[in-house]
Amino acid sequence: MALTVCPDCEGKVSDKAFACPACGYPMAQEKGTSPWPRVLGGVAGTYISAQALVTIIVGSVMFLAFAAIMIAAILGS
Ligand SMILES: [Zn+2]
Repeated sequence: MALTVCPDCEGKVSDKAFACPACGYPMAQEKGTSPWPRVLGGVAGTYISAQALVTIIVGSVMFLAFAAIMIAAILGS
């Protein structure tokens, strides 16, 4: 495990680290790949999953409310 120097706080950081553990500065990966697409992909995936979960919950509540109204209307008539 090689260590590199953080350009922000000049602390020692593993060259496999995504970010400096001391200051959070994003560290470039080996082979010229940026860590940000993977980080953004994870954030986007979490956001989409949360949005999908909210949509499912809201949809279920709306369906149950609609079904309850329809049942009440049928039973009341
Ligand atoms: Zn740092």
